[in-house]
Amino acid sequence: MEKTFSSVWKNCLKIIKDNVSPQSFKTWFEPIQPIKLDDNILTIEVPSEFFYEFLEQHYITLLKKTLRHELGAGSKLEYSILMEHQTNNDKPYSVKVPSKNKSNLSNPSVSLPVNVGGSGIKNPFIIPGLQKVTIDSQLNPSYTFENFIEGDCNRLARSAGFAVANRPGGTSFNPLLIYSPTGLGKTHLVHAIGIDIKNRFPNKTVLYVTSEKFTQQFVDSVKNNSQNDFVNFYQMIDVLIIDDLQFFTGKEKTQDVFFHIFNHLHQTNKQLILTSDKPPIDLQGMEQRLLSRFKWGLSADLGVPDLETRIAILNKKIYSDGIELAPEIIEYIAYSVTTNVREMEGVLVSILAQATLNKKSITLDLAKQLIHKFVKSIDFEVTVDYIQKVVCDYFHLPVEAIKSSSRKREVVQARQIAMYFSKSLTKYSLAAIGQQCGGKDHATVLHSCRTVNNLMETDKRFRANVYELERMITFFES
Ligand code: ADP
Ligand code: MG
Repeated sequence: MEKTFSSVWKNCLKIIKDNVSPQSFKTWFEPIQPIKLDDNILTIEVPSEFFYEFLEQHYITLLKKTLRHELGAGSKLEYSILMEHQTNNDKPYSVKVPSKNKSNLSNPSVSLPVNVGGSGIKNPFIIPGLQKVTIDSQLNPSYTFENFIEGDCNRLARSAGFAVANRPGGTSFNPLLIYSPTGLGKTHLVHAIGIDIKNRFPNKTVLYVTSEKFTQQFVDSVKNNSQNDFVNFYQMIDVLIIDDLQFFTGKEKTQDVFFHIFNHLHQTNKQLILTSDKPPIDLQGMEQRLLSRFKWGLSADLGVPDLETRIAILNKKIYSDGIELAPEIIEYIAYSVTTNVREMEGVLVSILAQATLNKKSITLDLAKQLIHKFVKSIDFEVTVDYIQKVVCDYFHLPVEAIKSSSRKREVVQARQIAMYFSKSLTKYSLAAIGQQCGGKDHATVLHSCRTVNNLMETDKRFRANVYELERMITFFES
């Protein structure tokens, strides 16, 4: 049978699938389209330059082997990269790039030492060593890639970071700008990149600095008339990481000096890694010329981690701290704190601290009490009515159903759950709760609470529903 590009690629995919993780397969191979087979050259279309670089860096050996297996020794791979047309809305065009195995690429960028003594420049930012300039990278050793849990929320940023760590200054992600609201892992990720670069390229000068510290140093240098030293210092960094760029907004002089440093580093193929709490386009008060430079590289955002990722983050954390915690407590924390990883870790830490201080063992109840202290925000009272409303919404039932005497299964269960929450979250008496839930007596309410408790112990799914409901009900509680 004659080989076509699609049959060849189909066979390749079969082999590749067995050799990479399902997630990697989905991310990096499913989006590829084979488009041509000519003279033993298979052309595949990839969605972006980033994609191409990533494949070349991580999967080239696998790709070549697979291709050789399918097409024999003389086979070649060529990429076609989809590009957005910049000025008008024409159809995307593509550029052709032959595969070149860059895995042995040595890093050509200029490296230190800078002979400070010999240059005659007095530089307060430099600690002169014998030969080499020693700069403390200011990296937090626990913020590694290894400790940074991968999820859908961070896949692009993480992979781009990884690519940059492999070839600082040598990818098209320069600058690499990572943005997200607070507490979602920007600082962690950029440290991870910095640490990885230090490990791979010990001779490279990596520096992490917050934009506030950068600003302060600059202001000081103006005061001390050492502006040149300031600029010189930053211009000799190989990998400059500036965190929380948003603090530059409105600070024209700082932006100006940063602009010059940026240009110098970029022109000499040094790597810039930046973070911001908003996408560049929303950084009001940031000079246009800087914003347009950010577009030269890659901007990637970090999203809110989904439940599984949040659980994995907590597990990683307690594991590295050598602590044991019941899975249902971990789950409960992950269910309850949904939008901010830092806050979620804060809850974990305070639970651990409370338990140690009070010499109590950590129970689900203790966890709940503390979480309620944490997650509450505005003045709000949970009432039986409110509970009924949330529970009925959740189960897609009309509120009247709970108040009726219906014995339908789903209504009975919703009613029981509403009673359970009314008992645990309000100060109403059993009798009053029963009264509002279809005119039941206090014994029925008690029985309902027991039923819900029992089911929570035995039925994981049910427990998950109840946790979720509890989070919804207590969301606004103060
Ligand atoms: P940001 O800089 O975006 O405000 P941080 O990097 O300070 O956020 O992250 C807040 C906390 O959450 C840190 O302790 C960090 O280790 C943790 N964290 C965030 N995302 C992850 C993740 N994907 N895996 C592990 N820890 C994470
Ligand atoms: Mg941060």
